Amino acid sequence: MSNVSTPLEDQVALVTGGARGIGRAIALRLARDGAKVAIVDLTDHGADAAQDIERATGRATTFVKADISKEVEARTAVAATEAALGPVDILVNNAGITRDNLLVVMNEADWDAVLAVNLKGAFLMSKAVMRGMIKRRRGSIVNISSVVGRRGNAAQTNYSAAKAGLIGLTKSLAREVASRNIRVNAVAPGYIETEMTAALPEAARNVIIEQIPFGCIGNPEAVADAVAFLAGDSASYITGAVLPVDGGLGI
Ligand code: NAD
Repeated sequence: MSNVSTPLEDQVALVTGGARGIGRAIALRLARDGAKVAIVDLTDHGADAAQDIERATGRATTFVKADISKEVEARTAVAATEAALGPVDILVNNAGITRDNLLVVMNEADWDAVLAVNLKGAFLMSKAVMRGMIKRRRGSIVNISSVVGRRGNAAQTNYSAAKAGLIGLTKSLAREVASRNIRVNAVAPGYIETEMTAALPEAARNVIIEQIPFGCIGNPEAVADAVAFLAGDSASYITGAVLPVDGGLGI
């Protein structure tokens, strides 16, 4: 391993929603970069993901089952991560859900659920790691927003509001904790090939692809590359940024 670059050696990263999709790719990438990684997810598949990543990279990993939209569970997830791996240096707020519908027929439960996971979850997890980061005067948070948080999207008022809210949270918290040497940034993916987007009908996919300057849907590793950059010291003078990873869709 001596010729392999490990810029995150000795750091602990916590990735929410890391059981599959983009979160899993982020967890793998951060472990490849040398970090010890905790996957925090609702589903037990997170345990398999953590084991696979540990086997592939040789880095210590752990899985914590938690619903990050609940304050007690968010706090417990951070405590369990710290007990297993040590203090959290990097938090990636990636867990997200969609409940798409036109506003006139969107019910209150679908509005609340999307805001609770995508936005409130990031608030709760950031709060749960913040005292430790402030005390150690070190930390990096990366929030996974979306191109639709920058541009809006029909039938996604709940999701776009949450993802736009996440950009506001990123910028405000970046200002709040910059003096403590804590950086807070966001990545705004476009359409990425995961189970979340696999449900799209063929015709809708083709319409989307036509709008993407690169002419193709992205892969989770492209998002993971951007997260690894923002999380690590190569981005040491970057905070409050929103980095699009969208093949040009958001231009
Ligand atoms: P996904 O549905 O494949 O994975 C999301 C993961 O989050 C799952 O493992 C799920 O169990 C977990 N999760 C959901 N609710 C949770 C909760 N309350 N507590 C803990 N874990 C929870 O989604 P994905 O496509 O990999 O998306 C990951 C992130 O990227 C999301 O925030 C999503 O909004 C964002 N994003 C995705 C795309 C895309 O095209 N796939 C585009 C832009 C942004």
